[in-house]
Amino acid sequence: MNAKTIRDVDVGGRRVFLRADLNVPLDDGRITDDTRIRASLPTIVNLLERGAIVILASHLGRPKGKVNDALRMKPVADRLAQLLGRPVRMTGDALGPGVQVAVDKLRPGDLILLENLRFRADEEANDPEFAEALAGLADIYVNDAFGAAHRAHASTEGITHFLPAVAGLLMEREVDSLSRLLTKPPRPFHAVIGGAKVSGKLEVLEALLTRCQAVLVGGGMANTFLAARGLELGKSLVEEDQLENAERIVAEARRKRVRLMLPTDVVVAPQIHQRSKTKIVAVDAVPKDQMIVDIGPETRAAFADHLSKAKTIFWNGPMGVFEISQFADGTNEMARAIARRTSAKTVTIVGGGDSVAAVEQLGLADRMTHVSTGGGASLEFIEGKSLPGVEALLPADAEINFRENA
Ligand code: ADP
Ligand code: MG
Repeated sequence: MNAKTIRDVDVGGRRVFLRADLNVPLDDGRITDDTRIRASLPTIVNLLERGAIVILASHLGRPKGKVNDALRMKPVADRLAQLLGRPVRMTGDALGPGVQVAVDKLRPGDLILLENLRFRADEEANDPEFAEALAGLADIYVNDAFGAAHRAHASTEGITHFLPAVAGLLMEREVDSLSRLLTKPPRPFHAVIGGAKVSGKLEVLEALLTRCQAVLVGGGMANTFLAARGLELGKSLVEEDQLENAERIVAEARRKRVRLMLPTDVVVAPQIHQRSKTKIVAVDAVPKDQMIVDIGPETRAAFADHLSKAKTIFWNGPMGVFEISQFADGTNEMARAIARRTSAKTVTIVGGGDSVAAVEQLGLADRMTHVSTGGGASLEFIEGKSLPGVEALLPADAEINFRENA
């Protein structure tokens, strides 16, 4: 990436404000997936081993500017301590006199985790005074939070106005890996897009049409495309207000000679339930009292066959209601088909919260070229948008000027 990274900085003895993305899913205070914590380790360890004083900070969930005991960073600190094999101290607040006192006590090689940044409304408001106060804790700023880089918040953008700002190792890997989809991806480049809705992914679809040779659409999103063709889909999720957009995308694909593949058969069930009785039907034979919950076997085979020719694959969005195991076959088969391509030297990149969760659950993450930790951020990146958190980093050829009081 064209940004300075932690490798370019002599961090020994310096106070580093490290913004990571430790926003893990919680269930009743328990971390259900620690991927983001593990992905943040290389930068944390690198800085500590080089004798930096690390002030680590993240947001967790959506406390909307208020202290929320269910969203305290404590479980994150505990898990991080396990992974690092050393205790991880925490502050009681994201910022304040107590934080300053705790930070002043730190020695080179020490680490402290700040309380949830979003307990302060100033964080999401990107309040300059708050950003300056955060900056006041440190000599240098490191952004490793790719998953939050699409938001200009105090800890991702505001702070860079007050401290030299460089990329962490995860940030660098995310940007470099996802860039492979933007600059001359090996052809053919095929995308697999799923998930619930067209509405949230219109811009991704449009961006992919300008770059891909084929777009394979599954999941609930495919329903809207099928409905736009005039098919009756029973109780399936269909976005009536997106039918025109779906038609427009089909027309655009045709104009650009991009192959747009839709399911030809689907799994249907009377309701979304683990014990529902399922059936496989052609897309033009969905019973009135049933709903589409997954792509069918013929579609899975056709998609996998098409992907077998790809040299670059991007996947976002599950093929069905994969949270329920009996509706997860389509998603799981796509994950396996894509992973198989990696061994055949195809660049395989997965982005998006739920599709990444599916890949992780199957233990296939290591078998992809890159699995992005950034949900929304990875999609915006692929749309070609510039991410404020990335833009704000020092360019690779810039000079680093430490604060006077450093
Ligand atoms: P990602 O997080 O990978 O970007 P999305 O958030 O867009 O994916 O979509 C994931 C959701 O889509 C899942 O909760 C899944 O249950 C839902 N989904 C997939 N297929 C269907 C379908 N046929 N009907 C209803 N919901 C679906
Ligand atoms: Mg999602």
